[in-house]
Amino acid sequence: MSDKGGEGGKASVEAGAEADDLDAEDDWQRWASADYGGAVDPWEDLEVVVAEQTDTPADDVGLDDDDDGFIVDVRDLEAPPCPAPLGIIHVIRLGACDHCLSRISGRSREGAAAADHGATIRAEMVERDPDLASDDNDDEGWCPFCEDLFDDVDVVVVRLLASLGDVSFEQMQIGIHIPKDLLQEEDRLRTKFGAASSRPLKSSFVAVIESALVEAIPNLRMVKDRPEVMVLIDTLTLRVDVDVRPVFIYGRYRKLQRGIPQTRWPCRACRGRDGGCESCQNTGLQYLDSVQDLIGEPARAMFGAEQTSFHGMGREDIDVRCLGRGRPFVLEMKQPSSRNGDLEALTETIASATDGKVEVNDLRLSMRSEVARIKETKAEKSYTIRFRVEGGIDDEAATISAVESLGGAVLAQQTPKRVAHRRADKVRQRQVIAVSEVMVDGDEVQFEVRCQTGTYVKELVHSDEGRTEPSIAALLQAPCEVLWLDVKEIHAD
Ligand SMILES: [Zn+2]
Ligand SMILES: [Zn+2]
Repeated sequence: MSDKGGEGGKASVEAGAEADDLDAEDDWQRWASADYGGAVDPWEDLEVVVAEQTDTPADDVGLDDDDDGFIVDVRDLEAPPCPAPLGIIHVIRLGACDHCLSRISGRSREGAAAADHGATIRAEMVERDPDLASDDNDDEGWCPFCEDLFDDVDVVVVRLLASLGDVSFEQMQIGIHIPKDLLQEEDRLRTKFGAASSRPLKSSFVAVIESALVEAIPNLRMVKDRPEVMVLIDTLTLRVDVDVRPVFIYGRYRKLQRGIPQTRWPCRACRGRDGGCESCQNTGLQYLDSVQDLIGEPARAMFGAEQTSFHGMGREDIDVRCLGRGRPFVLEMKQPSSRNGDLEALTETIASATDGKVEVNDLRLSMRSEVARIKETKAEKSYTIRFRVEGGIDDEAATISAVESLGGAVLAQQTPKRVAHRRADKVRQRQVIAVSEVMVDGDEVQFEVRCQTGTYVKELVHSDEGRTEPSIAALLQAPCEVLWLDVKEIHAD
């Protein structure tokens, strides 16, 4: 993310925050792949159960299977894979729950709920072998194929619905963490005894959660990409995390009044902590208004968001207006409770609520990738500048042609003193594309200039004590003081 091409904007505190926002995109993936299953051995208990079963007396041991006459013994780990009846019986003996029976039996489900399907298969097998019934309600034993995970579906769904509250959305993605050793053991058992077509534990569990949610939430769609809500389920702790993805709005803003920073600027004295201090009148802000809040607060209210991030295509200094078609920006609204808003109404609300300080236009819904586009676009900019020549102007024509002579010039600009505390000290080359509309008014000069992105335009006038070369001050051989500056146009799409 490059924020270095701005025209010397000041709210550097924002840069770090924005970088964090972008990284947040991938947080859930890191989370989902985090491996803390190693700390717990889910088979600890099961080994005890298996050992107990091993000790069961001989009368519980075998049965005749009328299909091929095998004698099946629960202690015998050799069994044909499902869907062979012997295989299904073996899986039941191992302690499979109804869900797992359904998914690994190889029997067609035909629209039945997995649990019902599994129960039907179990009943059928119990009919063949009544001894199975006694294994059936062995509360002590875990299903070795899921560690009784499917018993937790209701808890997970209830927690998810509670966490979602009244957030409105339609597209959801589910991320799930299942301890690795469970997945490995399940895979081993399923490969050995399950039908070839068996669905793995993870996708089966997600499918059950999904169908419960689809039933509970109107218009819900599960997506694999760009969800509106990302849900994370940790099956070890049954913790659920709901991440409502931000809503992004693209637009252009015009800043019609000077003295307003682009982004919120925390109070220098208290850094905005703990409800502010005396010097900021408990606002926590160095400047009460910011473009970010003048635009962001009405938008935040409309979308029920918790907070905003403001991504501008560069930024103008606090004392610089931004006119013309305005500066492109993307407003990011975090934790929105609604994803639809009337952007035309928002445009009007912003204009009237800010008393004409800031206007927006071209609002439309956007996405995170546009933040990067906005940040990376190197747009040329045009400015209107007015400055005063110390000692007055003797030769008007010579002054005008000196200013005009900068059209096409390549400037060598050493990092200005005013930003040196937060930017590397180096010399950069920037081109002045064109100079026009030069006019003299007493000891003042006004002109328009179009230049490359990242040009320090104030320094182009006053030279910053020779750090910018060439400069108008050097050409006129007199100190020049910038009176005001407007961004006239940002030449981007
Ligand atoms: Zn199971
Ligand atoms: Zn303060």
